[in-house]
Amino acid sequence: MSQVEANFNVAKLRREFPQLRKRIGNLPLCYFDSAATVQKPRIVVDELNHCLQKSYANVHRAAHSLATEATSRFEAARAEVAEFIRGEAKECIFTKGTTDAINLVAQSWGNLHVQEGDEILLTQAEHHANIVPWQLLAQRTGAKIVFAKVDEWGCLDVADWLSKLGANTKLVAFGHASNVTGAVNPVAALTEAAKSNGSKVLIDGAQAVAHLSVDVHAIGCDFYVFSGHKLYGPNGIGVLWGRYPVLCEMPAVNGGGEMISEVTEDGFTTQLPPLRFEPGTPAWPEACALAVAIQWLNIQRSEGLASYEFELYGYLRLRLAELSGFRVLGADQPNVGIASLVSDDAVQDLGFFLDQQGIAVRVGHHCAMPLMKALGVPGTLRISLAAYNTRAEIDHLIECLAQWEQQVSRARSRVFSLTELTAAKALNAEAIAEYQGLIGDSSEESFRALIHLGQSSSRFDETVRATKYLVPGCETRLWLAVVTTVPTLQFAVDAESDTMRGLLSLLSHELQGKTGRDLADFHLDQWVERLALSRFVTATRGNGVNAVVAALSALYAAGDKG
Ligand SMILES: *Cc1c(COP(=O)(O)O)cnc(C)c1O
Repeated sequence: MSQVEANFNVAKLRREFPQLRKRIGNLPLCYFDSAATVQKPRIVVDELNHCLQKSYANVHRAAHSLATEATSRFEAARAEVAEFIRGEAKECIFTKGTTDAINLVAQSWGNLHVQEGDEILLTQAEHHANIVPWQLLAQRTGAKIVFAKVDEWGCLDVADWLSKLGANTKLVAFGHASNVTGAVNPVAALTEAAKSNGSKVLIDGAQAVAHLSVDVHAIGCDFYVFSGHKLYGPNGIGVLWGRYPVLCEMPAVNGGGEMISEVTEDGFTTQLPPLRFEPGTPAWPEACALAVAIQWLNIQRSEGLASYEFELYGYLRLRLAELSGFRVLGADQPNVGIASLVSDDAVQDLGFFLDQQGIAVRVGHHCAMPLMKALGVPGTLRISLAAYNTRAEIDHLIECLAQWEQQVSRARSRVFSLTELTAAKALNAEAIAEYQGLIGDSSEESFRALIHLGQSSSRFDETVRATKYLVPGCETRLWLAVVTTVPTLQFAVDAESDTMRGLLSLLSHELQGKTGRDLADFHLDQWVERLALSRFVTATRGNGVNAVVAALSALYAAGDKG
C-alpha cells in the first residue's frame, strides 16, 4: 500500500456510503460510474431529511420563525456553494443542474446579445448539454455554431480552437473536463485567449468540481456551471455562477413568484440576481444538502483526497495498459479520473459482461455523439472513479476485462452474410434451444449462451445495413428489415452487439410468422420475464428490443389502414 493510500482512510470513507455495500446477485458492487452520478454520503441524506422533517417551510416568504430558519439555511447554502468556487453568494444562481444552467444562459444572455452572423465556438468533445442549447439559440438568431476539433485521443486540439476564435466569436463554451475522456482542458489559457478576443466564456464544470479545486476568478471566465448530483450532493439542484455585472444586464427568462420586486396589471419589475433567475419555490432542502456535500468534500480534501485520487487513477491506467484489446482515450493530459475504452468488440456486450461480475460501468456515446463521430467509434466503455473506489476494485475489473479478452470475445468466429429468413431461423435453432435450456440457471451461463446465440445469428451485409434499415435512437446500432406484415410478420434483424443480436434472435423466434392479432397480444414485459431477460431489456426507450417491437407494431398498424 502506498504512503498516500495509507494516509487517506478509504475504508472509513466507504462506511459513509451505505449503497456501496449493495450486492449485485451475490457479488459485491464495484461502482465505476461516478461520472454519470456520484453516490451520496450519509451526511447528505441526513441533511435532506433534516430540512424536510425538522425545519421545513417555504423560503423568502412568510414572516414566521420556521420560514425565517429555512431562509437562512438556504442563503447559508448559497454562501457555501459560492465559497467553494471562490465566488460571491450574489453571483450564484441555483438551477436544476448543469443542463438547466446552460439553457438559462443561452436563453437570457444569448437572446440579449447574440445576432445573425455571430459565432459560438464549442468543441467536439462537449456534452450534449453544452451543444443543444446553443444550437437552439442559433436557430432563433441565425448565429453560427463552430466546433473546434479533437485529436485522435479525444482531447481538444488547442491550435485548431485558437484558429477558430475570430472577430465574430461572441461566446466560447467548453468543458472544464470531458465526461468521456476525463481530460482536463487548459481552462485559464483558453479563457485568457477568448477574453482578449472580446468573447464571453462559459465553462461546463460538471465533471471538474468533484475532483479539482475551482477558482472562478483565477480562471477569469464569465459563467461557470455544475450539478449537485456529480458532487456528492442531491439531484435536482445545480449552480450557475456568473460575473455580477453580466448577470445584472441579463433579462429574466421564466416569470413567477420570487423573481419580481413588483407586479401590477400593466407589468412587473424584477429582483436583482440571483433571485431574478429563481422563479417559484426553490429546491432549498437540496441546496442545503449540496452545501453539506461540499463541506464533506472539503474535509476529505484536507485529509489527502486529491493525492489519493491521483494515485488511484495512475494505478487504473497502469493496469489497463496490461490489456492488449483496448485503446484508452484521454492520453497524457491531467485527468479527473475517467478511462474510456475503445474496443473492436461492441462495448455493450462488455458492459453486460461486467454487470454479471457486479461491476457498474457506462457504455455508449455518453451524451457526446459529435465526439464519437469525430473519433469514428460508435461508443466507448467508460470507467469513472470517485473518492470511494479502491485498488482492489480495479484489480477485480482488470481480471474481468482479461477474462473477457481471453474467453468470451475470442468465441466470435462465424460471420454470416444475409441469408433467407427461414434459413436464418434454422441456423439459430440450436443456439436458441441452448439459451432456453439455461433459463433459471446461473446468470453467467445464460449470458454466455445469449452471446453465443448472438454470434451464431445471421448478419446483414453492408447493403442491407444501409441507413434506411437502421432503427434510430437505440443504445446499440441495430437494423430491422421488414419483408411484410400481412398476412404474417416476415422480418430480419441485426445488431452491432452480440448480446443485442441474441435478444433480437429470441424476439424474432417469438414473432416471426405471427399475425397482427398475435402482435397485439404480445406483452413484452411477460416475454422478458418468461425468458429471464430483465437485466438486458431495460425499460428505456433506447433499448433495441422495445424499439423493434414498437417499429413492428407501427408498421403493422400502417399496413392495416392502407
Ligand atoms: C453530466 C454532465 C452534464 C449534464 O449535467 P446534468 O446534471 O444532467 O444537467 C453536462 N456536462 C457534462 C460535462 C456532464 O458530465
